[in-house]
Amino acid sequence: MNLDQINDFERIRDYGMLVVYSNWSFLKNYSPVKDQYSRRKLEWVAHIAGKRESRRLLGDHILTEHDLVNYVIYPDGSAPTTWTIDLHYPDPKNTEHFLGMEFKAIAVHEHIHPYPIPYRCFYSRSIDNLFMAGRNISVTHVALGTVRVMRTTGMMGEVVGMAASVAVKNKTSPRGVYINPDA
Ligand SMILES: Cc1cc2nc3c(=O)[nH]c(=O)nc-3n(C[C@H](O)[C@H](O)[C@H](O)COP(=O)(O)OP(=O)(O)OC[C@H]3O[C@@H](n4cnc5c(N)ncnc54)[C@H](O)[C@@H]3O)c2cc1C
Repeated sequence: MNLDQINDFERIRDYGMLVVYSNWSFLKNYSPVKDQYSRRKLEWVAHIAGKRESRRLLGDHILTEHDLVNYVIYPDGSAPTTWTIDLHYPDPKNTEHFLGMEFKAIAVHEHIHPYPIPYRCFYSRSIDNLFMAGRNISVTHVALGTVRVMRTTGMMGEVVGMAASVAVKNKTSPRGVYINPDA
């Protein structure tokens, strides 16, 4: 659907629920195979939707598709990203019936060589004492397609934790750890 992940988030959540409950109602009441569902119960529906993408912060480096597909390696390469560039689009079949309000997606995968994410993607370029780890790091929309998965974001946490410890010991900032890693 074409709604804004930040400003329309409640609308997106409500629409998601409308889709879940209407499909459930269809299966129970109108589907040609409704008998198969007569004794089924809906056990759980998330009331806070997970997000693949929302706000990202700018660091001293912005990781791009160009870096990933051309295997441009930087000296501060750290946590590896190993997943494909995995981008989601509205399912064309769903678009036929729900143009602009699609609720089913397709995933398109572009394979990459495992790639070390530059440490400079993990701290803010404008706030001296701010680290990022997770899907808020300094990457483009396309580059986020590979780095946002959980094992990768978990490794970012390890790198940031280690860097925070180095920064505290050396009385420096996240950027200071990059500029003088041997301090
Ligand atoms: C439908 C779906 C399927 C996915 N499938 C997979 C999969 O199979 N495998 C995989 O590895 N990854 C998968 N992902 C991706 C992965 O789950 C997410 O990218 C990852 O969980 C993001 O982690 P995060 O910590 O960066 O962000 P989040 O998990 O979104 O954590 C951010 C946290 O910050 C909190 N927060 C926000 N604002 C504030 C505030 N102002 N103050 C305090 N707290 C705040 C939020 O409540 C949230 O708990 C999937 C994602 C989605 C949406």
